[in-house]
Amino acid sequence: MSDRHLTKNVLLVFLPSESGVDGARSLYDEKRVNPFFTWTNQSLRSLIKQSQFAIPPLSLMILSSVEVEGIEQSICDMRFEEFPWQKKWDLVGISVQTGMAKKAFELAEKLRAAGIQIVLGGAHVTLFPESCRSHADILVEGEADDLWKELLTDLTTGSLKKLYRSDIFPDLGIPRAVSKQSLVKSRYFTTNLIQTGRGCQYSCDFCNVHLLNGHALRKRSVPEVVSEVARFQEHDQRIFFFVDDSINADPSYAAELFRKLIPLKIRWFGQATTTLGQQHELLKTFADSGCQALLVGIESIEPASRSAHKKNQNRAGELVKAVRSIREAGISLYGSFIYGLDGDTLDTPAAILDFVNETKLDVPGINILRPTPGTQVFERLKEEGRLLFDPHDITAYRYSFGQEMLYKPKQISIGAFIESYSELTSQLFNIKSAIIRGLCAPRSKSAVMLFNLFYTHLYSLSRHDLKHQHEKTIT
Ligand code: SF4
Repeated sequence: MSDRHLTKNVLLVFLPSESGVDGARSLYDEKRVNPFFTWTNQSLRSLIKQSQFAIPPLSLMILSSVEVEGIEQSICDMRFEEFPWQKKWDLVGISVQTGMAKKAFELAEKLRAAGIQIVLGGAHVTLFPESCRSHADILVEGEADDLWKELLTDLTTGSLKKLYRSDIFPDLGIPRAVSKQSLVKSRYFTTNLIQTGRGCQYSCDFCNVHLLNGHALRKRSVPEVVSEVARFQEHDQRIFFFVDDSINADPSYAAELFRKLIPLKIRWFGQATTTLGQQHELLKTFADSGCQALLVGIESIEPASRSAHKKNQNRAGELVKAVRSIREAGISLYGSFIYGLDGDTLDTPAAILDFVNETKLDVPGINILRPTPGTQVFERLKEEGRLLFDPHDITAYRYSFGQEMLYKPKQISIGAFIESYSELTSQLFNIKSAIIRGLCAPRSKSAVMLFNLFYTHLYSLSRHDLKHQHEKTIT
């Protein structure tokens, strides 16, 4: 028998979410609403898909780069393609996100019925392994970087175990080259996705990053990241996206990395905390190394909400200054807010509007608090009886673009909340403000304009669905 016949085929599957950048859609049966609304949504949905807002699934990129003799790995990104039934798969891995578990379990069941071995991994499996056990042959709990090699090796020897779990986080300082060979380049906004580190030292109660990746900051080595950038650049000259929940949390690491990237003349996007506004030298290095735009989590400008949800890393009064200094350094900013936190009142939208006008934030993202199962806020709201979905059904929570209320706000009635959220998002997102923000953005003007236009559509969908939910289901 030739080696070719001995090769085991492994497929890694990424599932699309219900809405958002994967193609905005109403959560309700679109046939029930007026035909013009349906037609507009469907046309915009395909336009959004074609606009390539999607980025590759990083975790699957990392796993597909693990090399084991006798194994051939591929990625199926179901945002763009159907499951490839025509090929024989020795093992299929599905990445399960909380909010998408139902869909993942359904696919797993279908594949198992066809005799395909299924391994489930990802955030949901790590937080709720028991809920996944009956839907898989194998579970991978926790960060899979090292476990995946062990699993693939066991596949070649026919000795797969039911569970792969590590009680310690992988040391990211160990070189692990990431390859993009399993990606279809033309599908994505960019394939230049590079992880620099994991972990977050903060404990915001609505976030699960610190639960999944720990509080210690683990960084990849600077020479490894620099050589990955140079290697990726040869195949794709588009923008780079550095994945790290706060790239400036370790300023000396960030300064060394981005100084070394200056000669490569890349353009890049990333995520940072607003503290960057006070780290003047680092801010300049970011701008000099080609930083075009950053996403910062402002979350709330209400002091009562910041302390109620343990968002303590910057005082509200410092935020305006921080945002201004980042923009003055020539970097566009996507600022993410959460409206509906426990300290918020009906005065909060006006405060957000003032903040956005004062700072000229380039993309103001307004989120409704999302009590994701596993987070501290989920547990608290469950105890307080404020959840609007069954907290005991692990598949009841679903992900959407602010299209449904999942909890009762503390100080505002649901009806008043939806009305004020709708008013706020209508004022912030319209064609005129999208054009103005695009023209005023320090960098990446067309991307800023496009993003604002995209959000103008998404927020109208969100308002539509919230109104529908309120009329139909909330008494
Ligand atoms: S919201 Fe940001 S700062 Fe807060 S815990 Fe999550 S990653 Fe860390």
